[in-house]
Amino acid sequence: MSDYAFATPPAVSLPVLSAKPFPVRRIFCVGQNYRDHAKEMGGNPETDPPFFFMKPADAILQNGGTMPYPPGTGDLQHEAELVVAINMGGRNISPGRASDLIFGYAVGLDMTKRDVQATLKKKGRPWEMAKAFDFSAPCSAITLKTQTSAIMKGKIECRVNGEVRQSGDLGKMIWRVPQIIHYLSQQVEIAPGDLIFTGTPAGVGPVVKGDKIEATITGLTPLAVEIG
Ligand code: MN
Repeated sequence: MSDYAFATPPAVSLPVLSAKPFPVRRIFCVGQNYRDHAKEMGGNPETDPPFFFMKPADAILQNGGTMPYPPGTGDLQHEAELVVAINMGGRNISPGRASDLIFGYAVGLDMTKRDVQATLKKKGRPWEMAKAFDFSAPCSAITLKTQTSAIMKGKIECRVNGEVRQSGDLGKMIWRVPQIIHYLSQQVEIAPGDLIFTGTPAGVGPVVKGDKIEATITGLTPLAVEIG
């Protein structure tokens, strides 16, 4: 007999290179964290502080999976991002202590219904239906932070059907990973299992059914998904 009214939902996890799987708790995302992308979205990267939104843990789509084209949009877009995996919690973490909380890194896609997002922005409404829908967070396996180097710098790219759409460098983030953890931990208590999608460089664009998306970051497992 179950202790609950129905079977508990399956745990969401990500594979980890040479370690046990990482159980996913929450997904935080940073908006407009590269100058060139902030500008293409009409933001002002020189003055705006970092802001966050979320996706549910079960929005994760495993590497190699097929993402069903979601309902309610005609403009599904890719945003390739560095994902930071957290295995220690805390509040008010100083930038100098932030790296203690980091378990590893992965490559993620913050899939976005751009047309829906534009409407919600215009009306001053929450972004969830544009960002937090089913399968909206494809993510690669996690590489332990001890097994990768120079994550503060390095190429981040997104290709659709082999054509380069996004090409940037992690060194161009407005808010670096330690600062992101610092700011986020002032607003919520960070917890083991949290993932942070750290924003996307310029070049975001639409995908359609049948497209193959590949997102890569130097030193990390490449992410490949197909739109179905
Ligand atoms: Mn994003």
